[in-house]
Amino acid sequence: MIDRMDLKVGFQCNNRCLFCVQGDKRLRHPSRKIEDLILKLEEGMQQGIRSLVVTGGEPTLHPLVLEVVSKARALGFTTVQIQTNGRLFAYEAACRRFIQAGATEFSPSLHGSSPQMHDFLTQVPGSFLQTMAGIRNLKQLGQQVLTNTVITQHNYHDLPDIARLLTGLQIDQMQFAFVHILGEAEKNSFWLIPSKSLLQPYLLKALAQGRKAGVRVMTEAIPPCLLPGFEDCAAEWIMPSTLVYDAEATIDYLRYRKTDGKGLGPRCQECVWACRCEGPWKEYPSHFGWEDFRPILKPIEK
Ligand code: SF4
Repeated sequence: MIDRMDLKVGFQCNNRCLFCVQGDKRLRHPSRKIEDLILKLEEGMQQGIRSLVVTGGEPTLHPLVLEVVSKARALGFTTVQIQTNGRLFAYEAACRRFIQAGATEFSPSLHGSSPQMHDFLTQVPGSFLQTMAGIRNLKQLGQQVLTNTVITQHNYHDLPDIARLLTGLQIDQMQFAFVHILGEAEKNSFWLIPSKSLLQPYLLKALAQGRKAGVRVMTEAIPPCLLPGFEDCAAEWIMPSTLVYDAEATIDYLRYRKTDGKGLGPRCQECVWACRCEGPWKEYPSHFGWEDFRPILKPIEK
């Protein structure tokens, strides 16, 4: 049973993130036609899916994205999330248009606590101020805001400050996702990828700050051996089973993660988490080996 669909409406984007997992798809794939998008929504409904993520690329750049949102609600989707760089929502009128069309939650990305940090990673001066304004507008309009921050070598020490900034904005959930070494991230991997053991103290501090402030905190692609005290924050535990309508294929995301995307290491079978853990993205150990992943051993029975 699939619970959610990720509908990639196109790969155009007005950011140029140095870690973008979509790589050069924006050059190779035009925006999806509205007829094709509606067909996918109908297929999803027939399969019993009621939760939709509208994503890309930057989905707000698709000229008919509001039609996609309103059609999804008319068909019966109960949750419609807009996964976005957040910049369009600096305009309050745009927020109102998406809310009126039926969007139920917004997932903007914030990758730094300052313009210098965020704008360097997005390669767009002014993007930090726009995303921040977008988050403020959406919260002032009473919307659910679930942020995502991609962890890289450039921003890992900034995670506690990002958490502080986001709690001040009274968002509903913050997620810290380890960079997936594909697309632009693969091209930049010689400097962009942090060691997980190096970033761990900063991540734990950020999670503690969020939790203390009453904000739901999540992580992605960080196995529980690196999350002492925050093991329950791993998004993989609760991610709904998802169909991803990508450029060239439809992907069962859970199956992809378990069979292709991620994997366990040579010592993982000793670990108490082995039966539930997906392990890191498989590209990570080819950069750093398996030393960061220390099995959590079962307590010895007396
Ligand atoms: S199974 Fe492996 S990767 Fe997962 S928590 Fe245990 S040691 Fe870490």
